[in-house]
Amino acid sequence: MDKKWVYLFDEGNASMKSLLGGKGANLSEMNSIGLPVPPGMTVTTEACLAFYENNKEMSEEMVVQIHNNLRVIEEKIGKKFGDSENPLLVSVRSGAAVSMPGMMDTILNLGLNDEAVVGMAKNTENPRFAYDSYRRFIQMFSDVVLSVPKYLFEKPLEDIKISNNYTSDTEITADQLIDLVNSYKKIYLKEVGESFPQDPFVQLKMAIEAVFRSWNNARAITYRNIHGLSHKMGTAVTVQSMVFGNMGNDCGTGVAFSRNPATGEKRLFGEFLMNAQGEDVVAGIRTPLNIEELGQVMPSVFQQFVEITNKLENHYKDMQDIEFTIEKSQLYILQTRTGKRTAEAALRSAVEMVEEGLISQEEAIMRIQPSTLDQLLHPTFDSKTMDAVKELTKGLPASPGAATGKVYFTAKEAVVATKNGESVILVRKETSPEDIEGMNVAKGILTARGGMTSHAAVVARGMGKCCVAGCDEVKVDEENRQFSIRGEVFEEGSEISLDGSTGKVYRGVIKTMEPNLSGNFGKLMAWADKIRNLDIRTNADTPKDASTAVRFGAEGIGLCRTEHMFFDEKRIPVVRRMILSDSVEKRQTTLEELLVFQKEDFKAIYRVLKDKPVTVRLLDPPLHEFLPTEEEDILKLAEQMKVSVSTLKEVISDLHEFNPMLGHRGCRLAITYPEIAVMQTRAIMEAAVEVSQEDQLSIIPEIMIPLVGITKEFAYLKKIVVSTVEQIFDEKQHSLEYLVGTMMEVPRATLIADQIAEISEFFSFGTNDLTQMGFGFSRDDSGKFISEYMDKEILPSDPFQTIDQEGIGKLVEMGVKLGRSTKPNLKIGVCGEHGGDPMSIEFFNNVGLDYVSCSPYRVPIARLAAAQAVLKK
Ligand code: PEP
Ligand code: MG
Repeated sequence: MDKKWVYLFDEGNASMKSLLGGKGANLSEMNSIGLPVPPGMTVTTEACLAFYENNKEMSEEMVVQIHNNLRVIEEKIGKKFGDSENPLLVSVRSGAAVSMPGMMDTILNLGLNDEAVVGMAKNTENPRFAYDSYRRFIQMFSDVVLSVPKYLFEKPLEDIKISNNYTSDTEITADQLIDLVNSYKKIYLKEVGESFPQDPFVQLKMAIEAVFRSWNNARAITYRNIHGLSHKMGTAVTVQSMVFGNMGNDCGTGVAFSRNPATGEKRLFGEFLMNAQGEDVVAGIRTPLNIEELGQVMPSVFQQFVEITNKLENHYKDMQDIEFTIEKSQLYILQTRTGKRTAEAALRSAVEMVEEGLISQEEAIMRIQPSTLDQLLHPTFDSKTMDAVKELTKGLPASPGAATGKVYFTAKEAVVATKNGESVILVRKETSPEDIEGMNVAKGILTARGGMTSHAAVVARGMGKCCVAGCDEVKVDEENRQFSIRGEVFEEGSEISLDGSTGKVYRGVIKTMEPNLSGNFGKLMAWADKIRNLDIRTNADTPKDASTAVRFGAEGIGLCRTEHMFFDEKRIPVVRRMILSDSVEKRQTTLEELLVFQKEDFKAIYRVLKDKPVTVRLLDPPLHEFLPTEEEDILKLAEQMKVSVSTLKEVISDLHEFNPMLGHRGCRLAITYPEIAVMQTRAIMEAAVEVSQEDQLSIIPEIMIPLVGITKEFAYLKKIVVSTVEQIFDEKQHSLEYLVGTMMEVPRATLIADQIAEISEFFSFGTNDLTQMGFGFSRDDSGKFISEYMDKEILPSDPFQTIDQEGIGKLVEMGVKLGRSTKPNLKIGVCGEHGGDPMSIEFFNNVGLDYVSCSPYRVPIARLAAAQAVLKK
């Protein structure tokens, strides 16, 4: 039998997403639960892939199947394709397995031609509507299928409005629309070189092929790159009989969410327009009405709609995004899909659905993408300072969050300004898919036009970006790089602030405030904590970072990089003198000074962590990183150290290394300068003893030795550490529990982990260096080529962000296995960047690590990802 390329809506169901695309599968599913769906068919994603294999042409067999199925649809709806009496018109839409808003093109009213339009005008007794549909169709078809620029068609329309003094399109008469159709056909002939196709089947074939082609247009590719989606899925095409929302005042169309997609509140949310087509709502050309007002306009239709949304939520057990049309008081559901939502809405709806008994706690946990939690952790405007700032205007609260920055008017300039380190607010009349990259880099987006379901609103919510849309007081003058509000002009670079939760726009920069971590956030985190096996620690070097992390739920410090404490303005001269000392005695004196600083730092950190574990790493980077490079600083330092400039320069040049990352750093430093390790051990342990005594806390410091590759390196340094600690206990007449362990970041260490485990009390995988040395990729330079590796599919992702499971991951697995072969209870964690990456966390869970350690803002992400890892297993 020939392959089946086309499925009627009654032949599919929700499980066929990869074949029918999200839209096609949904329409089939809706059909099967008895919703009023206009009949149609889906051309499969496999047909799209076959189209590409067949030189971007549909096979004969495909075309025949489309024909045959169209006959069935005609039967069902009682209309005929291209008929001059009762013409069937169809919509043609793209639909990949994963929804990609605005990326792909839609054609409405396909099937209209010179004859069908006459029949339609007659049947509906509405020639105005028929010719309006026809001229819209010609414009849309030309734009989507043949890339004839839209503006060419806007001119004759504007001309009619201007010469007749019309303020809106609805004033244009039927005769004028007939003239417009003729002008449009002439534009088509001129631009395309042939007449507008009159055969509806030709129209349909061209349209389906155009959708297939749009799968690989630049916007779709960019979208998939940003969202990490595969380029090999292909898109399906749904062909559906049209119903009309613009056939008079008993018609309308709208979009609604079963819950609020910005806040998650369980309340119908959306908008509609009477006497309009769906595109009018999405494009934001006319400002729609709130969905609840439909209750007054058409009470029984509204009632039916409410019942359907409840039915859909109960069926799909998730928030739905529903498109509907009312044709002559008859409600039709055009499509429904899982609603895109902000992180806040995802969290609230997931938690409330658990409380409503709709889903389980586990499902709620699986439903939140860990990386989106980031959006809930970022600051909002400080309400106390809000009285002092001037509200400029207000638009729609399209996507929550607070953003402050400088105004830019094009995506391109937004990208450049961001590269120059500026925070950007992208201001546009309305956005389109061409703006995606600008939106991606901007802190916030402000549009003058469009509703809550406009492109800007939908895309910003998907990106978790603050957006105020439909702000009609904002007059954008892109050409002159400025906008005005009630006459006041704001030039490019002006500072403004946006509150995406209220829709308010403010002048200048506003102070922001930390987010609320209780409520729904706290509930979800508590459910995740019950499930996860991994402990979550943080990488923190300051009391401030440490306390942020503890607030976010960190259960200890997994990495305190002591060198960061050296860069303080007051300390760096002391550090420099220490490094440049020409004798052990001189170095000792400066180390005494540093001891005071470090001890205070550690005491403050212990006090934040209380009895949670704190891993402190001994000095790691090559010493030259601390030295001055500017002439002026060198002169000053020479003066302080009472040495000549030339001597100083000589010492500095002696410290120069060709390959510092593989050079004199990590434990190699401590082996050459044991007195530094002694000072640091003193600082760590004296602080621990003092805080234990002063605050009655049981501090358990974990001293970590970096960059070990040879067992004897570790043995040598452990001996120094232990004897220093014993001396301190003696002096203080007080002892406490402590651990001495090593980092696993040199590949050789993972190969001899069994030997090292004999004397090491814990391991912490430094996956940054392990990746660097495992691949031989410089951490500091690989950015230049990694993206090309990803584009060319040599690597699936940046191995410095997501652990390379098949290579570096094997080193980790081996290190764990060998380490535990000598010490079965060996505590093992990870403190490289990967400790905060959800995919890597799943891997670390599966290889049996005890904890991951990550930056403070990633702690909640890690808590959730660790729970998901358990549930997935
Ligand atoms: C590592 O190498 O993974 C690590 C945590 O140490 P650093 O990033 O400081 O080299
Ligand atoms: Mg390292």
